[in-house]
Amino acid sequence: MSKLYIIPTPIGNLKDITIRAIEILKEVDLILAEDTRKSIKLLSHFDIITPMSSYHQHNEHKKLDSIIHKLKSGKTLALISDAGTPSISDPGFLLVRECVKNKINFETLPGPTALIPSLINSSFSSERFIFEGFLPIKKGRVKRLDSLKDETRTIILYESPHKLIKTINDLIHTLGSKRRISVSRELTKIYEETIRGELAEILDYFNNKKLKGEFVIVIEGNK
Ligand code: SAM
Repeated sequence: MSKLYIIPTPIGNLKDITIRAIEILKEVDLILAEDTRKSIKLLSHFDIITPMSSYHQHNEHKKLDSIIHKLKSGKTLALISDAGTPSISDPGFLLVRECVKNKINFETLPGPTALIPSLINSSFSSERFIFEGFLPIKKGRVKRLDSLKDETRTIILYESPHKLIKTINDLIHTLGSKRRISVSRELTKIYEETIRGELAEILDYFNNKKLKGEFVIVIEGNK
């Protein structure tokens, strides 16, 4: 029976893949992968020889029809991204929406994502939180930052190494230097670390450091 599986993959440590994810990736007719060259390493590691096809932000609109056609003709497909859970700051949403529109059966497996471990590592309240993904780079950035000012829930942002300092500076400008944040980097990898403190202290810590890896910024809600 046709079905689409949304399958989270490790964000660093390959041991974080689930047994069910491996089984499904072995069984489906086709794996849609954000970057087939990256995913081949993961698949080979687990002896998965299922054919792959690329599905990324530059072709996701174009490929929708043919993917839906495959699913309607009885194929089973899996969607994976380079790391973590598809559709979380990664392609996936469009395809899921199209499946719902076309009454196509789909299932999302639970699994690795960077936002949940970062939230818990922060030690800030995890009772109520919001995920903002990446801040806009230019258009809408100031407005988005302003909208966070009075937010009382814990806020989670994704950031790349080369924009971390700029974002911390912008947060100081908007939220003040004393707002507490937590930065988790390289989760599940050898150099994993979480730094907690006031914005000014965190800026001091990362300033003039060669920044490598992947970062999640968690901001304590306004009290
Ligand atoms: N789909 C992924 C997920 O479920 O977390 C997110 C993909 S998004 C393109 C990549 C961003 O996720 C990075 O810039 C970083 O903010 C965060 N990220 C991914 N892996 C990470 C890791 N091992 N440690 C810290 N942050 C990570």
